[in-house]
Amino acid sequence: MKGIKGAGYPAIVLLAGVISAVVWVIVLDYVYELTPTGLVQALSSGMLGAAGASFGALVLMLVAKPDQRKLDQVAHDARHDALTGLPNRAELFRVLDASIIEANRADMVLGVLFLDLDRFKMINDSMGHEVGDEVLRIVGERLRSTIRNSDVVARLGGDEFVVLCRDLMSPDSVVAMAQQILKRFKEPVALNGQDYRIGTSIGISIAHPGKDRLADDLMRDADAAMYRAKETKSGFAVFDDEHRLQVMDRMDIERDLQHAFDRQELVVYYQPIVDVDARSLYGFEALVRWNHPTKGLLGPGAFMRVAEDAGLMARLGEFVLREACAQAAVWNHISPAAQEVKMSVNLAEQQLVDTSLPRRVADVLSWAGLNPHQLVLEITEDVIVDHLGGLDTLRELRDLGIDLSIDDFGTGQSSLGYVKQFDMVTGLKIDQRFVRDMRSGEADRAIIEAVLAMATALDMRVVAEGVEYEDQLKELQRLGVSLMQGYLFNSPVGADLIDPTIWFPTPTTDPSQLGPEAVGQGFARSGAARAAANVGLAAGGSERLSAP
Ligand code: C2E
Ligand code: MG
Ligand code: MG
Repeated sequence: MKGIKGAGYPAIVLLAGVISAVVWVIVLDYVYELTPTGLVQALSSGMLGAAGASFGALVLMLVAKPDQRKLDQVAHDARHDALTGLPNRAELFRVLDASIIEANRADMVLGVLFLDLDRFKMINDSMGHEVGDEVLRIVGERLRSTIRNSDVVARLGGDEFVVLCRDLMSPDSVVAMAQQILKRFKEPVALNGQDYRIGTSIGISIAHPGKDRLADDLMRDADAAMYRAKETKSGFAVFDDEHRLQVMDRMDIERDLQHAFDRQELVVYYQPIVDVDARSLYGFEALVRWNHPTKGLLGPGAFMRVAEDAGLMARLGEFVLREACAQAAVWNHISPAAQEVKMSVNLAEQQLVDTSLPRRVADVLSWAGLNPHQLVLEITEDVIVDHLGGLDTLRELRDLGIDLSIDDFGTGQSSLGYVKQFDMVTGLKIDQRFVRDMRSGEADRAIIEAVLAMATALDMRVVAEGVEYEDQLKELQRLGVSLMQGYLFNSPVGADLIDPTIWFPTPTTDPSQLGPEAVGQGFARSGAARAAANVGLAAGGSERLSAP
């Protein structure tokens, strides 16, 4: 086929021309019994015709050749990613289908490695798309130079890449490849004289010989494993049977969650934030719960990731915001003192990317009749850093008079220096991990001190989360933290368990007289009270309080 494509066409035309010229001359001779001179004339004109035809074919071929090249290019482009030159999704699936059949035939193992870059969004948003594109090109090149000849690396789109490991004897080799890739990613990427650290999380699915697997299933499993690798920050994760059950569970949850809104199964719980120095209630944090018809009361950990993937977080977030604002308005109505109490609501990534968020929040506030100053919106550090484009939205929210707080501070990717950019943020919540580890590690105390120094310099309010023991309370207080939240005071409870006449002091009460007993009574009446209801300030041990 290849030989014919080259100079072969004119040669064939010439040969066909010669043969047809000879046949034509034989026919003429038979019919007209030509003289020898006539025979030579007929033969030479036939030959001339054949030469002319082959010349024409040659010209045609030369004219047509660029078109063929264009066609080849179009076919290549349709199967490759323009930025990195790597096979694209369609080509990957074509190769994967063929590789599954081949691996089965050869009794070999086939591995799918699903890679998603860590912090890519941040680089793209903060450094610009050109830098982002260059990073993707370098990553593609790095992957290409790490894999073996028999492997295939493809780009799915965005910052997602897939490596197909073919012709392997055992699953261990697939894991070894993932480890090798992670090692390569430890090397910084040099761009415009600056070093960037680009991490990646890898999900692995494996097709064992003899077990029929579809390309779609392998990709889905590797994708799910990648999420787990990201969640656990473990670098890579292998999809296994336990994982399969989880995926099925997730599918159930997603289906049920779609109905949960209409069936009014979602509820909001409230957890107090106390001001230990002032011995008063500072505010509440609204935390969503799901009264699942068969699984019972579920915390956000059981369904929030599914809600995110199903694109339901914006709806869920708005529901919680509405509920919390309405609840705060009800308490304000019952006791004017409640107006001094803040209501904190968590903001999800899917809400922050929506530029109409400030208008939506303003609408909810006016619907509930709540002063914006009573509302605090909590955004996790990672979400802010991943969406630096959302800073304008945050600024608009701040302009409405709403307080903004960075949640889970210290767990994300941002450095302390980064926080300077978030000038619209008025507070931060030290992640409970630091508070928990404070008992054992000197290092965590140092981190809290550094965070406090920074917060003071930037005039930010600090709340410590996850305070469970009295010695943590004392230590935090010694470090200068006064606002605290945790099981030591109260777990999150439904609004029906919060008696406003006890929780919110009446206007006649002198606030300076508000001792731990007053707040403690509130906790005690809340139903989820603990022995440390007296804000942990009364004498007492530091025994662990039971979690909800
Ligand atoms: P978060 O915003 O950091 O909320 C604090 C979490 O710590 C809550 O978990 C709370 O129940 C738990 N907690 C409180 N005190 C203690 C303690 O002393 N020890 C320990 N170990 N934990 C304590 P929860 O309710 O399971 O919520 C988990 C996360 O889910 C929240 O973390 C928040 O990021 C998210 N979340 C909850 N509700 C919503 C919501 O309505 N919208 C959004 N976007 N996220 C939400
Ligand atoms: Mg929070
Ligand atoms: Mg938090």
